[in-house]
Amino acid sequence: MAGKAAILGGGLGGLTAANLLTRRGWDVSVFERSPAPPTTGTALGMWPAAMAALDAVGLGARVRQLGAPQHRVAFLRPDGSVIGRVDSARRTAYLVSRPALLNLLVDGLPDGVVRFGVPAPDLGTLAGFDVVVAADGTRSATRDVLFGTRYRPVYTGLTAWRGWIPGETRAVTETWGRGALFGITPREGGLVNWFAAVRAPAGAPGGPTTLRDRFGDWHQDVRKILEQIGAEEVLHHDLYESPALPSYVRGNVALIGDAAHSMAPNLGRGACEAMVDAVTLGRLLAAHPVPDALRRYDRARRRPTRRLVRASHVVGRVATAERWIGLRDTVVGLGARFA
Ligand SMILES: Cc1cc2nc3c(=O)[nH]c(=O)nc-3n(C[C@H](O)[C@H](O)[C@H](O)COP(=O)(O)OP(=O)(O)OC[C@H]3O[C@@H](n4cnc5c(N)ncnc54)[C@H](O)[C@@H]3O)c2cc1C
Repeated sequence: MAGKAAILGGGLGGLTAANLLTRRGWDVSVFERSPAPPTTGTALGMWPAAMAALDAVGLGARVRQLGAPQHRVAFLRPDGSVIGRVDSARRTAYLVSRPALLNLLVDGLPDGVVRFGVPAPDLGTLAGFDVVVAADGTRSATRDVLFGTRYRPVYTGLTAWRGWIPGETRAVTETWGRGALFGITPREGGLVNWFAAVRAPAGAPGGPTTLRDRFGDWHQDVRKILEQIGAEEVLHHDLYESPALPSYVRGNVALIGDAAHSMAPNLGRGACEAMVDAVTLGRLLAAHPVPDALRRYDRARRRPTRRLVRASHVVGRVATAERWIGLRDTVVGLGARFA
């Protein structure tokens, strides 16, 4: 079955949906307000479900070639000692930067499908489309229109910094301290990716100096990164998570990705799930009439993504716990042995 689809937002979810639908013969228009794909950004871990979604749009092989495979992660204490290691060859994730992924997805589409620099039109003007895919991210204006502002994502209590420095690393580490964490991962292009999160009130300011004050006495791999970062390479965002929506569908509009289920990044799953949403929805639209496809999409995706929102929240709280640190580390160390 094919038809006409409007996709609001050309992030990872929207562009994956566009790739799947155009491959199935749909006439697709993506409205993306940014003038062009971003040229900078940090690495995202693509877990097996996301790799399967990328395979479905013909891009899995490129991502495996480009990305840094990860099947081992070490959890450390601020002094560098090991809390635990998780080693799972069965569940390889590929670390790839957001710009590289977005560029692959744009290149997979025929010219003219993505309209860069064009904000999403009002829903009322989209009557000529069989389906509208709202892929407009955490601050989704479409979600506000359809469900009201009470479903806007709420602050998790964590603020995060991300960036990259030149260099090479093969190791993936996450260091957990009191009320704060610091992660280091490889990525493509001769760069090392890092991220940090602390408990803080929403809107708290902070740049490299804040990071050096907060993490300056952590182990040497963290200090080495802090020595090299400058303000221009540091991204700083407060972290938000969605309350449970009553449905991911209203009329002929389907919400996907962060518009439907923003989650704390502590399981590294937000972008992965946006892509899984996109492929699930695209496949259903190709196989069923639109109302049926949207009902099936909601049924397939709402429950598992809600579970991930909750699980990411819990992991974020544990990783940045402010009390019972010794007990936490013991339990996590034991858990890692059996993971
Ligand atoms: C610190 C941090 C680390 C993360 N790490 C990971 C990770 O390792 N792995 C992982 O899977 N996920 C990770 N995530 C989550 C991931 O970034 C998001 O879940 C993912 O980007 C969601 O994709 P999306 O397409 O739904 O939304 P977005 O990527 O936000 O895309 C939405 C798009 O819609 C556009 N848009 C918005 N409004 C309009 C409008 N009115 N008109 C036109 N266009 C519009 C925006 O410009 C944007 O391009 C992380 C997030 C954070 C904050």
